[in-house]
Amino acid sequence: MSLIKALNGLLFPTRNLCYLCGERAYNLRDHICRDCYNFLDIVHREVDLNSPYIHRAYYTLVYNRYMREVIADYKFNGKSYLYKPLALLMLKTIEEKALIDEIDIIMYIPAHRRKEAKRGYNQAELLASYIGKLLDKEVSHSLIKTRYTRDQGKLSRLERMNNLKDSFKIRAREEIRGKTILLVDDIITTGTTIEEVGKILIKNQARKVYGLALTSSKSL
Ligand SMILES: [Zn+2]
Repeated sequence: MSLIKALNGLLFPTRNLCYLCGERAYNLRDHICRDCYNFLDIVHREVDLNSPYIHRAYYTLVYNRYMREVIADYKFNGKSYLYKPLALLMLKTIEEKALIDEIDIIMYIPAHRRKEAKRGYNQAELLASYIGKLLDKEVSHSLIKTRYTRDQGKLSRLERMNNLKDSFKIRAREEIRGKTILLVDDIITTGTTIEEVGKILIKNQARKVYGLALTSSKSL
């Protein structure tokens, strides 16, 4: 996938640096030093969405104070290279939940092109693309966001649902028909977004949709 290739040029210059703290270390695991690894709370937990469209949704890491910073760096502070260690961690959830054989294609929550242009990348797409590469699975770019919407976090539940209404579209239905899809996002906050996209996928004849996020701030 050319996106990943293009990004390789933006990666750290040496292999011995921790991607999270930038310190030199020789015992890196998934590009992360032992100190940073200790701050991560890896749980491979299910999110209770209670949605008819999402078969199961999982997240990899607890949204603790450390993860809040990691997410902010990844999404808002331009540290796009974090997709690599983060996707490697998410891969463990896929393995833990024995999803590898079941998944046909990988998709991601799209961003509106205006938002993506501002940020320079879509953080969910980077995760999905690298997971696809690691698993040797096709990544579909068929889902697009057609409306520019307000930030979901600041809205009530009803407002959130109205805010997202008709804001996603499938470009190529034949790509997803009859397929089991792994739908990737960086963070599940309320679950409204992943539910809305799941609905569109199922309505466009996807067979089954699994959700996977790096972390979740949704209260249990
Ligand atoms: Zn570190």
